[in-house]
Amino acid sequence: MTNPQPADPSSRPPPLLPLATLIGRELRGERPEEPSLRFGHAGLAKRGEDLFLIKPDCLRIAGNPSTSFSVFAIFDGHNGVSAAVFTKEHLLDHVMSAIPQGLGREEWLQELPRALVAGFVKTDIDFQRKGEVSGTTVTFVVIDGWTITVASVGDSRCILDLQGGVVSLLTVDHRLEENAEERERVTASGGEVGRLNLCGGQEVGPLRCWPGGLCLSRSIGDTDVGEFIVPIPHVKQVKLSTAGGRLIIASDGIWDALSSEMAAKSCRGLSAELAAKLVVKEALRTSGLKDDTTCLVVDIVPSDHSISPSTPKKHQNKLRSLFLQLRSPSSMKHTNKLPSFGSFEELFEEGSAMLEERLATNFPSKANPSLFRCAVCQTDKAPNEGFSLNPGSYSSSAVQPWEGPSLCSECRKKKDAMEGKRPSRSTASR
Ligand SMILES: [Zn+2]
Repeated sequence: MTNPQPADPSSRPPPLLPLATLIGRELRGERPEEPSLRFGHAGLAKRGEDLFLIKPDCLRIAGNPSTSFSVFAIFDGHNGVSAAVFTKEHLLDHVMSAIPQGLGREEWLQELPRALVAGFVKTDIDFQRKGEVSGTTVTFVVIDGWTITVASVGDSRCILDLQGGVVSLLTVDHRLEENAEERERVTASGGEVGRLNLCGGQEVGPLRCWPGGLCLSRSIGDTDVGEFIVPIPHVKQVKLSTAGGRLIIASDGIWDALSSEMAAKSCRGLSAELAAKLVVKEALRTSGLKDDTTCLVVDIVPSDHSISPSTPKKHQNKLRSLFLQLRSPSSMKHTNKLPSFGSFEELFEEGSAMLEERLATNFPSKANPSLFRCAVCQTDKAPNEGFSLNPGSYSSSAVQPWEGPSLCSECRKKKDAMEGKRPSRSTASR
């Protein structure tokens, strides 16, 4: 405003679009300010227990294309593939049914972290009812506009690579070996953490939880391990600047071989499809094929740009730079012009394994839940049957009645079991 002739090209408004383009967008129901997604997948199977989900066409409101969002997920199964298959089939529906109808976009995004917790727990309860013993990690990524929400249990990982070479981890590894906080939680809930004992007392392998012997502290399924192995996800929500960024979502087959930085660096400047292939190849080159290895790469880029979001680093080899220039001659120019260079805003992060902390937070105005609907499984119950979570912070407020979420008796049983208060079923022992 103060300077009518901006000297810096980055402060100029974007060029006007031809009317035909705008009309075309209108007809297709696209939102011009929205980013485009480009994605690729690669994987190598050893046991065939890694599954993935790519669903770029989900709708918040059925029949309304302007409410679209995308889901990308990886399920790394163990002790069989049935938990991974079940979770892939049902998790998204369970998350969606935990979000009240009629919310606008911002409120929907605000509700999403809680709905993810409810959806993960419901999927776990439903799968365990089948009596099968397999389990799965889940890394579940929801992209709506520039906002990315990641929910995860287990040790698959999602990283965010920004244009300036900054790599951020959007998940937490729930491995007993590496996560002291989770070791404490499991022990406090009645589990025993230790290594496998060979005859003669020699301890081998990573830290595991007994009963069951799982080295993860959170998963979906695993009916045969202690119930302190919980399905409550770590959730992180971030908003990218309009410069965009790249997500790399992969199972532990990748992360056992490559650090987050190595994975991001190995594929900068390449299209999402090539990038996914290269990350898998790089992991294989480093460690060989020891495990199922799955990688999804998602580029979130400004619309009408045919660019990859990453600027090649100075020290990258010339061949790759040449390749980039040949592929999209305008990409370098464009990247340099983008006003906001690879940043993001953290909107939400919570990893607690306590269900009441995850479900009983402030509700957006329009999203007040029914007092008589279970916050986890969404079934309605009679007014006298219900059990409200016990929110300590509300107990002092005598004027305002408790309006937070409540649980049905079955979900309450699950909650108590997860906290080690009572077993809801018998488990195998060491
Ligand atoms: Zn319930």
